[in-house]
Amino acid sequence: MMNLPSEVRICEVGLRDGLQNEKVIPTTEQKLEILRDLIDAGLQVIEIGSFMHPKRVPQMADTDELCRVMAGENPGVELRALIPNLRGVQRAIDCGCKKVKLNVSASRQHNLKNLNMTPEQSVAGFADCVDLATKNGIEISGSISMPFASPWEGRIPQSDVDAIIEAYLGVGINEISLSDASGMAVPNQVYEICQHVREKYPQVSWWLHFHNTRGVAIANIMAAMETGMTQFDASFGGLGGCPFVPGAAGNVSTEDVVHMCMESGVETGIDVRKIMAISRKVSNILGHGMDSYLLRAGCSSDLLETASK
Ligand code: ZN
Repeated sequence: MMNLPSEVRICEVGLRDGLQNEKVIPTTEQKLEILRDLIDAGLQVIEIGSFMHPKRVPQMADTDELCRVMAGENPGVELRALIPNLRGVQRAIDCGCKKVKLNVSASRQHNLKNLNMTPEQSVAGFADCVDLATKNGIEISGSISMPFASPWEGRIPQSDVDAIIEAYLGVGINEISLSDASGMAVPNQVYEICQHVREKYPQVSWWLHFHNTRGVAIANIMAAMETGMTQFDASFGGLGGCPFVPGAAGNVSTEDVVHMCMESGVETGIDVRKIMAISRKVSNILGHGMDSYLLRAGCSSDLLETASK
């Protein structure tokens, strides 16, 4: 029998990772409606946006405004934003955002391309961010992009990943996300790495972030769950990646993960039908279909109802 946790937490990243690659940008009002829908569906952790430069990521230009409005509504939900640097922490302070996430790539070449810094230079900048965030009552976490494999190097040596984990711990960050942004991870590798990091760094609160680029994101989540991991990112409708690049795919879809958990006896606290309704709503706003098995096939339990009629 598989050794699955009795419950898991899912962070909805559709508003950030999903929308940041889209041509059509939902209005701030539409984003607020989606946010409130997500909270109503049972989401307790939501990645609300990012504090990147609005010229670089125009889809996220209203993150400050979203945080301001939601802080006023005080929904009792963890709303986190991705930050590139110290300026991101300052924006979080100014708009009332209480949780921020840094990112570094485990791929030296990717980090250079993406942030124009070596991973070591990125890490050196973290201490200031942690200091300013902590002084202002803002929780700070860290993400490691492509810890499994990158398109430039292939598999990343575990010692490189461990060095980044230790750098995060060194500056006082002990919530860490392993992000398979390139969609290259496979279940047995995920199992081994999750086992390794859980044993070596038991003080860390881990998140796993899988893209479904090659159809194995759900299997990767299962493999991670089997090691005792309980926190996963997912995106409504499987949104993410770049829809204009052939073969590029988004995050694992929230409804698919919730459904799998539901049918496997793993509690998520999330209403799968409400998530499906949100995915349809977002699909209408964006004007294209979604990469979601549930939207195509419906819930397994629907079949039973139809068959018994
Ligand atoms: Zn992602």
